[in-house]
Amino acid sequence: KLVLGIETSCDDTAAAVVDETGNVLGEAIHSQTEVHLKTGGIIPPVAQQLHRENIQRIVQEALSASNISPSDLSAIATTVKPGLALSLGVGLSFSLKLVDQFRKPFIPIHHMEAHALTIRLTNKVEFPFLVLLISGGHCLLALVRGVSDFLLLGKSLDIAPGDMLDKVARRLSLIKHPECSAMSGGKAIEHLAKQGNKLHFDFRPPMQRAKNCDFSFSGLQHIVDKTIMQKEKEEGIEKGQILSSAADIAAAVQHTIACHIAKRTHRAILFCKQRDLLCQSNAVLVVSGGVASNLYIREALEIVTDATRCTLLCPPPRLCTDNGIMIAWNGVERLRAGLGILHNTEGIRYEPKYVVPFIIFMQFA
Ligand code: ATP
Ligand code: FE
Repeated sequence: KLVLGIETSCDDTAAAVVDETGNVLGEAIHSQTEVHLKTGGIIPPVAQQLHRENIQRIVQEALSASNISPSDLSAIATTVKPGLALSLGVGLSFSLKLVDQFRKPFIPIHHMEAHALTIRLTNKVEFPFLVLLISGGHCLLALVRGVSDFLLLGKSLDIAPGDMLDKVARRLSLIKHPECSAMSGGKAIEHLAKQGNKLHFDFRPPMQRAKNCDFSFSGLQHIVDKTIMQKEKEEGIEKGQILSSAADIAAAVQHTIACHIAKRTHRAILFCKQRDLLCQSNAVLVVSGGVASNLYIREALEIVTDATRCTLLCPPPRLCTDNGIMIAWNGVERLRAGLGILHNTEGIRYEPKYVVPFIIFMQFA
């Protein structure tokens, strides 16, 4: 069985072919990051246009690398939500054309389900396991009980941690810093933090008293913004120049975010263990998303998993960020489980009626 996966939910046009054992036959990806860095953020119509320009080539490259033609496919799997509506639309309409032309089953994919299941392609991980997704667009904790059986334990009430790190890095003008100019915001903060002293600033982790597993980053971001403004005054420099205390701020911000993420995750592990939702002796925490590549945050999470006798697993970096492989693999998982396979495109509109696997769970003490 071969599944073609297509991903266009945000700023990457990606495709891959994966077989039922998880072998990646071929993949291709086109990243729009460079264009969006120049405009200081993603402008949806620009992203849509770039997806349109690249989708045909990327899918063709993935098929050619796999040495197969569309008629060899068992199904086509495509991200249908969540994401930027304009971007999702490009992948979906392209896929539906292929589906019609080659008469293949179509498997709509929930982007977060795909991120969560990626670990099963690289490691032997059985259900249930806990997943923490931390990226530029998402922040959530969920218990994965089956291919399409998720219990959402917590999510960010405002922005995602990667988004916050990007904003702080921009505010600190790290793009002008000789050592970090080519790095993403989060990576630049991680790099600079190594040269700083986290104790020079005392940012408090958010939501210390909230009895749930939700996250929040925008309040912290405002406090950091104010601190930067104050420091600029003290150091007598203009906005846009690099503070001499930039490394200390980076270290303190990274430390505070790591504490926050680790504490919320700790709550989720204890919650699941107390209710026997996770294996007592061999529970697994999977951490994925661009922010998961941060080693300081990983160390904080390791302290939590060691203390709760859990195993911490992360997919390799290229599978942590958006890619076509995870979409194809999610298609394989759904095909094997006989879930969500559509045999004609009638009724599939721009936003197909598709059951979101994440169930909002009640808050707990
Ligand atoms: P989505 O949320 O839809 O998956 P995205 O493109 O925003 O999409 P990713 O590609 O997974 O997310 O990750 C990008 C984010 O990860 C950026 O916000 C970036 O700053 C952050 N990031 C990358 N490297 C690091 C790092 N070493 N430490 C912290 N954050 C990082
Ligand atoms: Fe993603």
